[in-house]
Amino acid sequence: MDKKINKYRADFPILEQKVNGEPLVYLDNAATTQKPKQVVQALVDYYYHDNANVHRGVHTLAQRATTAYEATRKKVQKLINAPSEREVVYTKGTTEALNWIVKGYAEKNLAPGDEIVLSYQEHHSNIVPWQEICAKTGAKLVYLELNKRGQVDLADAQKKITAKTKFVSLAQVSNVLGALAPIKELAKLAHAKGALMIVDGAQSVPHIPVDVQELGIDFLAFSGHKLLGPTGTGILWGRLELLEAMDPLDLGGEMIEFVGLKHATFKEVPWKFEGGTQNIAGVIALGKAIDQLQEIGLAEIEAYETELMRYVLPKLQAVPGFELYGSPDPNDHKGIISFNLAGLHPHDTATALDMEGVAIRAGHHCAQPLMKYLGIAASARASFYFYNTKAEADKLVEALKKTREFFK
Ligand code: PMP
Repeated sequence: MDKKINKYRADFPILEQKVNGEPLVYLDNAATTQKPKQVVQALVDYYYHDNANVHRGVHTLAQRATTAYEATRKKVQKLINAPSEREVVYTKGTTEALNWIVKGYAEKNLAPGDEIVLSYQEHHSNIVPWQEICAKTGAKLVYLELNKRGQVDLADAQKKITAKTKFVSLAQVSNVLGALAPIKELAKLAHAKGALMIVDGAQSVPHIPVDVQELGIDFLAFSGHKLLGPTGTGILWGRLELLEAMDPLDLGGEMIEFVGLKHATFKEVPWKFEGGTQNIAGVIALGKAIDQLQEIGLAEIEAYETELMRYVLPKLQAVPGFELYGSPDPNDHKGIISFNLAGLHPHDTATALDMEGVAIRAGHHCAQPLMKYLGIAASARASFYFYNTKAEADKLVEALKKTREFFK
């Protein structure tokens, strides 16, 4: 695999640079991944050769742009094994996709006393839209506990998913703990009570095979920029009948069929959601990103990242003062490790690591309820992708040891 990694890395010119005099070690992939040459080239090619607005034109450029824009839908369909490409809706990212589900579908299906089940690991984008809708509808939020492995606790879910539950909405992989939630079992629990299962796949779809039919879920949201694609791209997937019943939020051009003075009719799914001029270049380049991922294979990516976790976690745990959050078992980390160095603010840790060329993130990671649950204000987070090497993992360990020595 190491040989292969070097071949993959050749597609990422950004990784070749030095930062503060040291070779860059990019370990902030949970925030956004780097973009291979092929993806950047797809953006350039589109603007150099095909730039035109989609759907409306009959001229050649408009047709070329439309064909390429629509081709990404099929690629996404295959990536997540959706039954139909019409179930694939383009968004700006996970945040927009979740907001659309909450405001376009959930809101009109909630009444006072209804419950929405989340967990303590959720990203703010799977909490805040629900809070607003609860204030409007009188529905209530219920939070699931995490087990010792940092995973959403099934036993707690069995108690808290009840006849009152209308929606269960959970991240498949936590962006802080890297733990995998048992989505298939949770979806079964939800459906047994007549609730729908919504999955935030921001940290799962880029790293593990995700099959919406196998999981038996109802909606999935994820971001293109966390899987090699351009920023400003993301996907909302939903079962066709649910998308048909869901209201679009962006009303205006592109998404209509007919407009009169008092009424308008909308296009069919998915185009009714894509109001206004879209991120055409981004969507086309996202298609290229998915090609790149499929060439390597998600199962292979998952296996390699697990190998990396098994390699680096014991070494990190041996660093004096290293405090790990979540599971001590490397197999429970989908590329993400959150930690603190005893006595050090994570921002100081991250700044010291940056001086060594190592890019990690520090803060609350848009998961303040989880920070509170863990009893901390913030953490440092190293997040890996398939282009990271064991030598880079060693550099992280060495830089942390050096940081610890310096602040002692
Ligand atoms: N959910 C999770 C689990 C995430 O990690 C992120 C990104 N940090 C988001 C949602 C939001 O994604 P985006 O910023 O691309 O909308």
